[in-house]
Amino acid sequence: MTSLLTKAGLLAAAGLLLGACAQSPTGRSQMLLFSPQQMNQLGADSFNQMKQQEKLSKDARVNGYVSCVAQAVTAQVPSSYGISDWEVVVFDSKQVNAFALPGGKIGVYSGLLDVARNQDQLATVIGHELTHVLAQHSNERLSRSQITGLGLAAADIALGTSEYRAATMAALGLGVEVGIALPYGREQESEADRLGLALMARAGFNPAEAIPLWQNMGAAAGGKAPPELLSTHPSNANRIAELRAELATATPLYQQARAAGLTPQCKP
Ligand SMILES: [Zn+2]
Repeated sequence: MTSLLTKAGLLAAAGLLLGACAQSPTGRSQMLLFSPQQMNQLGADSFNQMKQQEKLSKDARVNGYVSCVAQAVTAQVPSSYGISDWEVVVFDSKQVNAFALPGGKIGVYSGLLDVARNQDQLATVIGHELTHVLAQHSNERLSRSQITGLGLAAADIALGTSEYRAATMAALGLGVEVGIALPYGREQESEADRLGLALMARAGFNPAEAIPLWQNMGAAAGGKAPPELLSTHPSNANRIAELRAELATATPLYQQARAAGLTPQCKP
């Protein structure tokens, strides 16, 4: 991990000099200082750490349900992304949360199932999380944190400090776990909503269920235990209106998928 981060830091510094501009799937310009291989390695390291620190669910029914939804959605990820192996883990926790990491890793907290109440709502969350990874949002955030904190980061990398590791995990979207809530940006959120909806619809999940999902999330936010997911995925008043508008694109994809025989029946 330490040597990887040292290399990553040096490359980030080189990237600063060379410039490393890319385009997101919606055409937004992005600064990406890390290679896909580096991101995959950071994702795999962070996922291992999560598996050590969180309690894994042993409930076969819950694991089967989450895997059923996740497999249907990941099957729609274009092969050009080069991810052949997906690892899906359910954490036994009251947290209302989920995440995806570079390298084909997906984590779902069992508490999410109180808010994502059917397969289509769960597919909404998984599609959203996957899009953050596919659109390289974590690379973008890590690159930005390298720029803003380069002096500090270089020293931290050299020492392999836990602060640096925490900052890396925060950039990967694991804010709650490391105590640093690093929210995705507004544009990243709307990109993840839009493309995530198309992804789940292509898998044969009903995109209209994204509306009640985010309504449930909003209702839970007013309760005693606000969803952890919202600390890294800030919502706003426009989200539901934008999702409704996006249904015009996603609904035909859903109908085509159903007509082609993609009719997932994952039972909670
Ligand atoms: Zn998000």
